[in-house]
Amino acid sequence: MSQNLLHTQLVELANRFGTPLYVYHAEKIKEQFESLQDAFTGTKARFFYACKALTNINVLKYVQSLGANIDCVSINEVKLALKAGFTPDRILFTPNCVDFSEIEAGKDLGVNLNIDNISILEQFGAKYGGSYPICIRFNPHIMGGGNYKISTGHIDSKFGISIHQMRHIERVVKTTGLNVRGVHMHTGSDIKDINVFISGLEIMFEVATHFPDIEFIDLGSGFKVPYHEDDVRTDVKALGAKVKHAFDAYAKETGKELEVWFEPGKFLVSEAGYFIVKANVIKQTTATVFVGVNSGFNHLIRPMFYEAYHRIENISNPFGNPRIYTVVGHICETDTFAWDRTLAEVREGDLLVFYNAGAYGFEMSSNFNSRLKPAEVLLKDGEAHLIRRRDEFEDLLRNQIEVL
Ligand SMILES: *Cc1c(COP(=O)(O)O)cnc(C)c1O
Repeated sequence: MSQNLLHTQLVELANRFGTPLYVYHAEKIKEQFESLQDAFTGTKARFFYACKALTNINVLKYVQSLGANIDCVSINEVKLALKAGFTPDRILFTPNCVDFSEIEAGKDLGVNLNIDNISILEQFGAKYGGSYPICIRFNPHIMGGGNYKISTGHIDSKFGISIHQMRHIERVVKTTGLNVRGVHMHTGSDIKDINVFISGLEIMFEVATHFPDIEFIDLGSGFKVPYHEDDVRTDVKALGAKVKHAFDAYAKETGKELEVWFEPGKFLVSEAGYFIVKANVIKQTTATVFVGVNSGFNHLIRPMFYEAYHRIENISNPFGNPRIYTVVGHICETDTFAWDRTLAEVREGDLLVFYNAGAYGFEMSSNFNSRLKPAEVLLKDGEAHLIRRRDEFEDLLRNQIEVL
């Protein structure tokens, strides 16, 4: 779609549904999924959508209809996945620091379990032995990812079981008869260097030799998509070729044809999302010109939480003279979306769009400042469907119990 057409369409949606508004473009999700499938043809690859990025039930159903699998980090995500039509064999449950009962709930629902703590392995093995196959999440201790906050493979990370604890794991597996069907790693987000995956894979091949019943290696995700104008995207095509080469060589050497699993979150939905806000005020100070919009970190927290960059455009005055602005929200906290950003001249009432708003956007929203959560719209086959109504005032009081 051309930039002009996109702007016009987004302005129409804002006028029709109001702002702030999240819009998701279904076909973009499909395009991303297909680019992954293409990149890994010739490999026994399975893709599990890491749904914590965006869990609107319609998005889950759509991803389901594409034939993807799903990765869940809480039992409620598992239940949502089942509701969206994923069968248990297409669901991978990768929780962290949850109570044993939540792991058991996953088992009772028949989904694939990914265990990332020795004490849970011990409990699970003691209770179920080898009757229910599991996957083990390892920490390969490689540094991957855009920055420390979104990196999970380093030595201080709470995720996974250290590869240096292999002796202990082996002892648990031996004494309890656990059936280890897969090994997993996920080293962070925004990984643009595919060699992070390849060095991880070499480690995982070694890890796999400790488990005779191994069927798959899960390399997690962290595939990067462009946020900044001159950002790169993880070259999944090149990664696919390298992964195929490595698995072919492994099969030749060991006679075992393993599956490779991936868990893309951001890669599938980030670019499919647009977040539209309205400029409430222009505020000239002695230091800068602020655009104060009708949103804040209660709706899109990535810039403040991860120092993430989101491209912003003025869609209602796209040909205005370029000027420099600091874009902030209306929350009573410092909620700066962007410093010193060049935008086409912004007038009070103009509409701005944030790109890459599909992943970890609405999903991380809150009612802070007693503000209402935005509406969500799904664009599919050229039609706009409201998939979540905007919060109403009553929603703020829902679940509160007035005792005074
Ligand atoms: C969050 C997460 C992912 C997805 O990460 P992205 O950077 O969004 O692709 C994959 N696997 C696990 C276990 C996760 O927690």
